[in-house]
Amino acid sequence: MATAEVSVERGEFRNEPFLDYAKPENRSAMQAALAKVKGELGREYPLIIGGRRVSTGQKIESRNPSRPAEIVGSFSAAGVAEANQAIEAAQQAFTTWSRVPYAERAAVLFRTADLLRERKHEMNVWICYEAGKTWPEADADTGETIDFCEFYAREMLRLGGPQKLNQLKGEKSYLLYIPLGVGAIVPPWNFPSAIMAGMTGAAVVTGNTVVLKPSSDTPTVAYKFIELLTQAGLPAGVVNFLVGRGSTVGDTLVAHPKTRFVGFTGSKEVGLHIQEVASHTQPGQIWIKRTVLEMGGKDAIIVDEEADVEAAVEGVAVSAFGYQGQKCSACSRAIVAEKIYHAFLQKLVERTKKIKVGEADDPGNYMGPVINQGAMKTILDYIEVGKQEGRLIAGGGRAGGDGYFIQPTIIADVSPKARIAQEEIFGPVLAVIKAKNFDQALEMANDSEFGLTGAVYSRNPEKLRRAAESFHVGNLYFNRKCTGAMVGAHPFGGFNMSGTDSKAGGHDYLLLFLQAKTIAEKPC
Ligand code: NAP
Repeated sequence: MATAEVSVERGEFRNEPFLDYAKPENRSAMQAALAKVKGELGREYPLIIGGRRVSTGQKIESRNPSRPAEIVGSFSAAGVAEANQAIEAAQQAFTTWSRVPYAERAAVLFRTADLLRERKHEMNVWICYEAGKTWPEADADTGETIDFCEFYAREMLRLGGPQKLNQLKGEKSYLLYIPLGVGAIVPPWNFPSAIMAGMTGAAVVTGNTVVLKPSSDTPTVAYKFIELLTQAGLPAGVVNFLVGRGSTVGDTLVAHPKTRFVGFTGSKEVGLHIQEVASHTQPGQIWIKRTVLEMGGKDAIIVDEEADVEAAVEGVAVSAFGYQGQKCSACSRAIVAEKIYHAFLQKLVERTKKIKVGEADDPGNYMGPVINQGAMKTILDYIEVGKQEGRLIAGGGRAGGDGYFIQPTIIADVSPKARIAQEEIFGPVLAVIKAKNFDQALEMANDSEFGLTGAVYSRNPEKLRRAAESFHVGNLYFNRKCTGAMVGAHPFGGFNMSGTDSKAGGHDYLLLFLQAKTIAEKPC
């Protein structure tokens, strides 16, 4: 890559519009992409270390959760040796990439966004096949990926030059943001494109180099994104692609003395483990590792007695069951005022009965499968616990078909201390809790170790003011669903055991991948 300054002209940031699948041209484009990608399923993919394509004797196969017999991609799996090689390759690439002018690094992300826009339908299909997302959910994932590229590239242009400081007499001073070094990027499967690309894009546009270890459930989507980055001009070694079980290569990547930072999104358990491993200083390590850890949620929607009940029913239903409840922001607790409790439940059950569950590539289905067999078992076990802890009023088991399909399930009359009201289930299971009044509802909502998203439905501005003050979550919404954060509009990240509150898609995010150097000069 050339190192000459490039000037990048780009207008104001705008969110990528969602595709309207009611339009025949979008439907037929998606159908054509489904057919094309179907012919590419089951291919073999290597690791990519320092630009070299590396094959190993071990395999990780990703499967279509709608039809588990269907292999989406077959990947060479890394062991400890390849993980070490990948860190070394990233370290080597850092010496050159960190010196590439920031506008040129931003230009790579802008070009990646353009390429992805051209292949949107195809990416949507990979997400649909590999992660079990329905058409609109897959499109939202791809759209958010484009947004992250566009937003972080602009952010780099804002932060890349010398930053103004207060000038002392007889001295010239300024501040430069410089990259950290080599990072391990460890995303989850549930936003296989957006979160993976957001963390990777932010890390590399700021001049760092990384080892990207995608989720073992969704490596193909990550591979497709890396193809685009490469086509957009990203030099070899800047992103090293390392498929491997977290349990096999995770500690090596995190503990390596040359790893400077870890960008992780996933479960509380793994996030806390990474934090511990990263905190042990290794021989030869000369820095304190930085960890950016975004973890789970147990998100609540409060439905006040002064709420628009119809709107609240809709908001709770889509927040609880969109993408099968497998969003960190999903509503898993509805806390409903006593006065409207029965009316709300009745309407919610009617609404839930309209939800169709089945193969994610069939646009007639609102819900697809959960991600894998292990997740299905965990969720079904929680449903059994829930049947003891409350009153089952909808769903309660598997839905028909060969895929990992689970019915949208509602359990009413749940105690706020019950396991299903406290533990993250990460599936289509909603606990409904009755509250005497608004203050008690707020107390119940905050009675959680997590603090990611929340919502309140109420027409009373004073109650909304109180919630703004005391509902302790990173992303709070009023009179709308608690999912669907948009880049730039809803910087995303949670409190307490939901993570380090990184606020992805916000103006503070890139600073997590940078360090500041102040330079002050007196004329000699
Ligand atoms: P997970 O099991 O914690 O896995 C996340 C990533 O960590 C995967 O790439 C996984 O690799 C890797 N990993 C596993 N063990 C590791 C280890 N010992 N060291 C290093 N890496 C390791 O989470 P998930 O099931 O993929 O995702 C669901 C979770 O993510 C939920 O808890 C959800 O709330 C959370 N989430 C949070 C946010 C947020 O912004 N707060 C957003 C999305 C999701 P393998 O796949 O190989 O195991």
